[in-house]
This record gives sequence, C-alpha cells and structure tokens, in this order.
Amino acid sequence: MLKTKKYHLWTIGCQMNEADSRHLASQLETIGFKSTPEPDNADLVVLNTCVVRQQAENKIYGRLGSLKTAKEKNPDLTIGLMGCMVGMKEAPTLKHRFPYVDVFMPPSDSTPLINYLERHHFLQELRNQEKSDRRLRDKIQDAKNLLPMNQRGNAVTAFVPIVLGCSHACTFCIIPYRRGVERSRRPNEILTEINTLVSQGIKEVMLLGQIVDRYGADLDQNESLSGLIRKIHEIDGLERIRFLTSHPNWMTDDLLYTVEELDKVCPHIEIPVQAGNNNVLANMRRGYTCEDYCKLIDRIRTIIPGATINTDIIVGFPNESHDQFNDTYQLVKDIEFDKIHISKYSTRPKTIATRKMIDDVTDDEKTERRNIIDEAQYEILERKNKSLLGQTLEVLVENKKKDRWFGRTMHNKLVFFDDPRNLLGKTIHVKIGKTSPYSLIGDPMN
Ligand code: SAH
Repeated sequence: MLKTKKYHLWTIGCQMNEADSRHLASQLETIGFKSTPEPDNADLVVLNTCVVRQQAENKIYGRLGSLKTAKEKNPDLTIGLMGCMVGMKEAPTLKHRFPYVDVFMPPSDSTPLINYLERHHFLQELRNQEKSDRRLRDKIQDAKNLLPMNQRGNAVTAFVPIVLGCSHACTFCIIPYRRGVERSRRPNEILTEINTLVSQGIKEVMLLGQIVDRYGADLDQNESLSGLIRKIHEIDGLERIRFLTSHPNWMTDDLLYTVEELDKVCPHIEIPVQAGNNNVLANMRRGYTCEDYCKLIDRIRTIIPGATINTDIIVGFPNESHDQFNDTYQLVKDIEFDKIHISKYSTRPKTIATRKMIDDVTDDEKTERRNIIDEAQYEILERKNKSLLGQTLEVLVENKKKDRWFGRTMHNKLVFFDDPRNLLGKTIHVKIGKTSPYSLIGDPMN
C-alpha cells in the first residue's frame, strides 16, 4: 500500500484564483492526494498568488519565508507557486529568487505541477506498476483532462471562468501582464462544464472574466455573453446565474434585457467605476467619463428595476487631488452602490502608471480617502438594508458559519439564520428580523 500523499493549498486574490485552486484540488484528488489544513504535515504545498496590490504580494513573501524553513527540515516537501505572481513569464526570475520552489504555474494552468508530480512523486510507482497495473497512469491522464473547474465536496455555488486574460491596458493594472491576452472559452466547453457541475449538485454558477461582458469578442463565431447566458439558462437543475466583472464600455442593453428577462439570472451587476473624476479616469485610461457611467447606471436601473450594483474604486491614484477625490465621494453618495471594493492605489511593476506617473499621494492620505468612502458607504448600506426589515427573502443556502446557516438572495444580500435541518443547497424563505450594513439575520419560514 502506498502512503496517501497530502496537499495543502493556500489561495489569495480574486474569484478566478479561487476557481483555479478548486480545479487544481480536483486534479490532485483524482490522482490520490488528500487535502490537509496543516502545511506542516503536507507532502505538497501550493500557494496560489495575487499581485494586484503590494499588500497581497507581501503576504506571499511571508508564506514563502516559512516554506523555506519547512523545506530545510523536510527536503521531500514539494512546493508549487501558482497564479499572477508567476504570470506568463516571471518563472525564471522567481526560480532565481526562490530556488526552494519546485514548480511554477501561470494562472489557470496547473499542467506544470501535474507533469512534475508524474516525474518526481510517482515515477517509482509508475515503473513498478508498468506491467500489471495501469491505474495510476490513467488517473494522471484523467487529472490532465479534467475541464477547468470541477468541484469537490458539496459546494453549492461554482466559479466558471469564461474569459481568461485581459487585453485592456488600464494604467494601474498588472493583470494583462500576468494573465496574458484576452481569450474567451468555447461555449460548448463551458456548457459541458456547467452540466457536470450541476450533476455534482451545484445550484449557482458565477461566470468570470476580467471584462466578462466582452465574452465572445475574440471568438470567430458570433458569440456574446447574453447568447451564452441564454444557453446556460436552459440547463435543468441549475438555479442561478451571475457574472462578473463587467466593464462599463461593453455593457449592452441586450445583456441587461437578458438579465431582466431570464428567471435564473441574478439582478446583480458588478461594474467598477474606479474613480468619479474625468481627469483621473482619463489617466487610468478607463475609456469612459463619469457622465457615461452615470447614464449607464440609469440604464441598468431602468431596464432592471432594483438591480444590485457593485463597484470597485481606487483612491490615491497618481496626481489625484483632494477635489478630484471629492468627485468620487460625491459619485458614491449619488449612485448609492450596494457594495464597493475600495483599494488604496499601489504601484505595480511594468504598468503604465508606474512607468509614467509618480505615486504622489501619501499612504496616510490614501487611508483617509478610503475611510471617507467607507463611512459614506456604511451609512448608505445601513439605510438600504434597514428597508428589508420584516421582508421575507428567498435565500440559496451556501454553507454554515459557527453553527449558523448562511446564503444569498438573488440580489446578493448575505443572510444568516438558525435551523436544525440540513438545508445545504436548498432555497429557503427567510423573514428578516435584524439588519446590519453588511448582512441580514432572519427566521426561516416553512
Ligand atoms: N478587470 C476588472 C478588475 C480587476 S482587478 C476591471 O475591469 O475593473 C480588481 C480590482 O483591483 C480593480 O477593479 C481595482 O479596483 C483594483 N486594482 C487593480 N489594480 C490596482 C492597483 N494597482 N492599485 C490598487 N487597486 C488596484
């Protein structure tokens, strides 16, 4: 009997990374690895990395430091580094800096690890088995053939990358340099994958792309996100469809009408504005003005009344004056988003902003600007969520946290409730008894 090998997988960053990690986990389990929460007793540790901000990068250095010590104690430990830190071409430089890392994998590509395991971990077993038993070899082949993103366990919602990479050069953003050019996946492959997920019990899919509303623009056929969603909507057993992240310039009325028309598509749009001042937007090369953005928000709200609208904002972009920041603050107050991911600007290697602009807003000033937006948003959400008090909302139950069930509404509201039954994956009506800016608590109705 072979000793079961254990893997520990650590992930930071966006949903795309989460999807890549889940896919890798399925591959590792296909070839017989078991997951362990303890990196100390793992045979394989993989860090799936994010470098979109310096802060994320620093966390990885911390992790790498402790892995160096672990490797010194246990030279048999295999260490893999995956994701945007590796990008499409950073591996040789990283190998030089972190010689104790065994394998480097670009985003969404775990092949180097599977090949490495085949050569190093399993070579002996494969040789021994060569004559009598081809099972391990078959399993490795199965792992390689696994479609991106098969789920393990009893997950209810799944991330499905539909557009990989990005070809839009926002001046602040490192992603195009690390995830390569924009590539839409073929509709058939996506549909096969979602069918598999649904047969495994998945109820909700989140379609992912850096500019998800550009889906199909690079395919030769006449494909679009709304067309794809219409096909996905036909899948029996699937209950909910979400998509993110949309770029304002590519959001069409056709897509909005599709969201409004189809029952399974959540009225939930993630559409980063990044800044509320036209000069800052131009410096970011976002390709729209505040007026364009506000008109789009009106269009969304006209076509999909009550739609949830989430956004991303960067504060302290090079040259952003106090008045320019105030324009962003005003936009936040005017639009009343349902969620804002606020980031302090962070210079990223090779980006246009780093090459051509000076990071001249101090960190204290950035923190203050972030706090100002945070506070404004807190009040908005407190008020918005209070209006849900006493309402009965439909919640798809995703999991438990500290003995309490939680799930989301179609509008992406996070709802907690107590119930002794096993409700995982069920849609439950919950009467809201308590609200806070970031979540709701209620009682399940029968
Ligand atoms: N593709 C998406 C966003 C991808 S990155 C889009 O079109 O907007 C996720 C978020 O991280 C961005 O929306 C941005 O708000 C933030 N971000 C990206 N680069 C950053 C940087 N250099 N500094 C601070 N925040 C950044």
